[in-house]
Amino acid sequence: MDRKKVIVQIFTGGFKNKEIKFNDIKCKLLELMEYIDIEKVIMGWNVDKELYIKTKKLLNKYSVELYLWLPCFSEIGLLEKSNLLIDYTGKEVKGYTLQEDENFEFYCPNNKENIENVKKIYSTYFSEIEFDGIFLDKIRYASFSNKLNGVFNCFCKDCLNIYEKNNIDKKSLIIEMNNVSNKVISNKDTPFGITEYINGKYKFKNKIWENFFEIKNQSIYNALVDISSYFKDKGLKIGIDTFSPFISYFTGQDLERLQEVADFIKPMMYRITKAPAGLPFEFEKLIDESVQENKEIVKQKFLDILGITEYEGDVYPIKFVLEEINFMTKNLTKDIYVGIEINKKEIIAPVTPKYISENILNINKTAVKGYVLSWDLLSAPKENIDEIIKWFRN
Ligand SMILES: [Zn+2]
Repeated sequence: MDRKKVIVQIFTGGFKNKEIKFNDIKCKLLELMEYIDIEKVIMGWNVDKELYIKTKKLLNKYSVELYLWLPCFSEIGLLEKSNLLIDYTGKEVKGYTLQEDENFEFYCPNNKENIENVKKIYSTYFSEIEFDGIFLDKIRYASFSNKLNGVFNCFCKDCLNIYEKNNIDKKSLIIEMNNVSNKVISNKDTPFGITEYINGKYKFKNKIWENFFEIKNQSIYNALVDISSYFKDKGLKIGIDTFSPFISYFTGQDLERLQEVADFIKPMMYRITKAPAGLPFEFEKLIDESVQENKEIVKQKFLDILGITEYEGDVYPIKFVLEEINFMTKNLTKDIYVGIEINKKEIIAPVTPKYISENILNINKTAVKGYVLSWDLLSAPKENIDEIIKWFRN
């Protein structure tokens, strides 16, 4: 099997803050590039042009590509007036607070103004920089991290039109949603009455859920076709950031469909992260938000449906992650670079060399093209970087 490729991700801070010095980026990159081959660097999304221009110059010497890391349906409201998702009660969906420079506020993908904002931000702040490609992040609806109404949306004017055209009965949908949130479904059942998880998709007792999530998948795809063609016309290659299929389903990400617009896909397999996109975090939020009674019983039933046997509520089991990866390598034709954490943050990402090693040892056996060392090289401690060098040393 071919040697796995390595992509590195660097977080330069949100649109509005954080002072990152080029020298810090340079030191961290040189530390790695001295020993291992890096294929691309993904970097964003602070608007300080100089950082990217200098990094690009450095990377040219090593023939490494530079991709701009750009959020699409979140964060952009900090720079351009954007239209939030509207929940089933008619209220705007609130953000999730993780840190100052990310707002985790989500905007409706069916709203044209929101789509134009992504292009506008690129053309205003980044178009003069010679990027090789663009890495699209937050190409999704909110998740259960934004509470139940993070998923029970969108009911804006544009979305209601789409439901009508597609014969989705808005009234029945809202009744179902109210039932979940008002604990009417008292049960020892499964969340939303899920009956099956097969080929990256769920089946439900009430088919309205399937129709609802299918429309969300279609909406994200349609928006991505528009956004990606804008960037392709500028000669940029496209990478996309996605959830793992068992969670992505609930956020409007159908990977089989989305891959059409991308050159490569990075599923975030964050097995230990207790923040949005982290597998244990998103899983627990799904249970907490959608189940009111008998949580432990329902959780166990859901785990059974997923085929997960050794989850202790902490690190997500590698066995299940490998199943998700194998599903993707079999069904997707585009290159897959698995996102694995290398950064360390107290409590939310307690990443150790041992954990990194367990991921690589196992994922190396799959047919993926490589890894995206996530989600921030600048906050990866020396011991974690040393572990990476050990694995990928030339
Ligand atoms: Zn909407």
